[in-house]
Amino acid sequence: MSQPEFPFQLPSQPEHANPLPDACDVVIIGGGVIGVMTAWFLNRKGLKVVLCEKGRIAGEQSSRNWGWVRQQGRDLHELPIMMEANRLWQQLSAECDEELGFRQTGILYLAESEKELAQFEHWHGQAVTQGLDTHLLSPAQLKAHLPSYNTHWFGGLYTPGDGRAEPWQAVPSLARAAAKAGVTIVEQCAVRTLETQAGELTAVVTEKGTVKCEQAVLAGGAWSSLFARNAGIRIPQLSVKATAGATTALPDFYDGQIGSPDFALRRRLDGGYNIAPGYDRGFYIGPDAFRNLGYYLPQLRRDFFGTKLYPAAPKHFPDSWGGTRRWSGEQPSPFERQRILNPKPNLNALQKTLRQIQQAFPGFADAQIRTAWAGMIDTMPDILPIVDRVPSCRGLVIATGMSGHGFGIGPGMGRVVADLVTEQPIGHDLSRFRFDRFSDGSKVELSPAF
Ligand SMILES: Cc1cc2nc3c(=O)[nH]c(=O)nc-3n(C[C@H](O)[C@H](O)[C@H](O)COP(=O)(O)OP(=O)(O)OC[C@H]3O[C@@H](n4cnc5c(N)ncnc54)[C@H](O)[C@@H]3O)c2cc1C
Repeated sequence: MSQPEFPFQLPSQPEHANPLPDACDVVIIGGGVIGVMTAWFLNRKGLKVVLCEKGRIAGEQSSRNWGWVRQQGRDLHELPIMMEANRLWQQLSAECDEELGFRQTGILYLAESEKELAQFEHWHGQAVTQGLDTHLLSPAQLKAHLPSYNTHWFGGLYTPGDGRAEPWQAVPSLARAAAKAGVTIVEQCAVRTLETQAGELTAVVTEKGTVKCEQAVLAGGAWSSLFARNAGIRIPQLSVKATAGATTALPDFYDGQIGSPDFALRRRLDGGYNIAPGYDRGFYIGPDAFRNLGYYLPQLRRDFFGTKLYPAAPKHFPDSWGGTRRWSGEQPSPFERQRILNPKPNLNALQKTLRQIQQAFPGFADAQIRTAWAGMIDTMPDILPIVDRVPSCRGLVIATGMSGHGFGIGPGMGRVVADLVTEQPIGHDLSRFRFDRFSDGSKVELSPAF
């Protein structure tokens, strides 16, 4: 198996190595898809935006995901933003000079049981009322839709307008386009702390100096809760490890994405397929796991055996035992010790997944795994993000906890966050993503999305 082509290492020279200005309108903390798209839309409003990334643009989740741009199976509160994101992907592909890999090839979920089919039916009934073009497929319709397969499925759910993009091409390309349009991007520049006066943000302190600003957006993916906690802000975020891989080039047996309880696959631009185990999640137990256990009981009750537990995270991971939890602006922060979070993929699970796909689809007979990787997915107790202003720190917006589906929705969330920052009408109800839902006595309501 060869080394993956995406950024496991820091390059010797950062691509974005601009000097840090003394002041700006908004600092974005984190150069994943959420930070990049927020910067993109804020810049369009004429604001002076600085994006600080501790490692390299899209070095973490935003390059490691499957590349699904998915409305299907979404929480109904996210669906309108995701439908907007879908339109934005089309626009961005047309506007951007570089190839994002966006293709509207549809997403198909396969039901392995009557119970799963009933879940699809329930979601479908609600999604169509929001105007989504999505279809339930009977076994006969499935036969007509899919190329030859050997398994019995009870039916499917198909959303033709769903799409895919190449994450490791798309997010760096969008960042380059944002930089060309005027966003100052500084890689290898960890934001250490926030400076405030009387509860108002006045500056962010980075390893390269201080930037005065009245607004900042925390879009730090799996690092957001560690950063927030040091600033006296608590969010019950945890991370799980997910593995994926790419196959050798294959004849194009299906151009869309397929998901089943056992596997997920999608066609890549290079002629291979991305494949991933349906249910392989790894969880590193650390202090935050105990701290936040109560919030996660509903998730544990729903799927106790779905996650493999490890007693400790590797050194310098966000929730590692003995990791630094408190630091000042003058001290190196944990973000500088781990520029790129790069967990080890679960190769056994991936090989098993390939065998399952080969059993199901003869078109995969000659496939081999060419490369494999893993990423840490940041999640929230209800599997929905926080997208809100922080009441205790005026000027700070948090956009994190995308819970395994932030890539596709990235452009929509970027637009939403930009309007949140500038206090303009959002056009969507964000109450389900509010910051204080974990502290105001509300019950944790698990997203029914699948
Ligand atoms: C294996 C896998 C498969 C997935 N599949 C899909 C999919 O098919 N479709 C989908 O929609 N989503 C998918 N996801 C989820 C999706 O990738 C994430 O939800 C999304 O990328 C999150 O984007 P983000 O910008 O919030 O975080 P990230 O991409 O993690 O970016 C956060 C960035 O912030 C930086 N950072 C953190 N702290 C600091 C600091 N203090 N200073 C400076 N920089 C900092 C980090 O270095 C990082 O680059 C998948 C994820 C994984 C791991």
